[in-house]
Amino acid sequence: METHRAVRPSWDCEDCAEPWPCPDRKAGLLAERPFDRLTLLLFLSGFLTEAIDDFARNGTGTVPDLYDRFLGWALRVPSDP
Ligand SMILES: [Zn+2]
Repeated sequence: METHRAVRPSWDCEDCAEPWPCPDRKAGLLAERPFDRLTLLLFLSGFLTEAIDDFARNGTGTVPDLYDRFLGWALRVPSDP
């Protein structure tokens, strides 16, 4: 069963309450080998757009900087050789 999923609309992790994607979820995503950065970014982009919608509808009116939270970390992961 999949764990460390996002709870909407807060986008906190259901298991550890960290901002999603939490460290455990990131580790899980990166463990899916062979690592394909493009596939990972597309996967995360889908959540990013949903999160922007959720924060816009349910938040304080200010959408936090979600780009680095959802995509930036994945861009910094070294590629496989
Ligand atoms: Zn978690």
